[in-house]
Amino acid sequence: MQITNNSVVSFHYTLKDADGNTLDSSEGREAFAYIHGGGMIVPGLEEQLEGKKAGDSLLAVVAPEKGYGNIDPQLMHKVPQDRFGGQQVEPGMQFQAGEQGEMGVFTVVAVEDGHVMLNGNHPLAGVTLHFNVEITNVREATAEELSHGHVHGEGGVHH
Ligand code: ZN
Repeated sequence: MQITNNSVVSFHYTLKDADGNTLDSSEGREAFAYIHGGGMIVPGLEEQLEGKKAGDSLLAVVAPEKGYGNIDPQLMHKVPQDRFGGQQVEPGMQFQAGEQGEMGVFTVVAVEDGHVMLNGNHPLAGVTLHFNVEITNVREATAEELSHGHVHGEGGVHH
């Protein structure tokens, strides 16, 4: 069957950036599974999987606008290091922060001159995504999966 809304789609993938660096891959894991049409994967990839079927392979190139968004300069913050109360802060560390219900994950990008540079953008914001996808299975979602909002069984939730 072809992929349409409420299809459960299983696929293997390798995600690379424009320079060919591998960012993520399902290699060595079970195929990733999602319910099509629910916004569970980035919009640009979901669009390009529409109408495909098991056994199909494709290279889906997804611009940031349809991936993890462009880099928002307002999510780059410079804060005094003493705000961290003596806690050791190093580049690469991540933590939750935010206010007024807008919690987000911030990554420390630099520590210099008593200040910490924080980036609240998604790590893949601004990146054009190159997905090599191999669709392994397409089936209809069960009523239970639709009510739970996730896939049961292989590649999904086991409960
Ligand atoms: Zn469930």
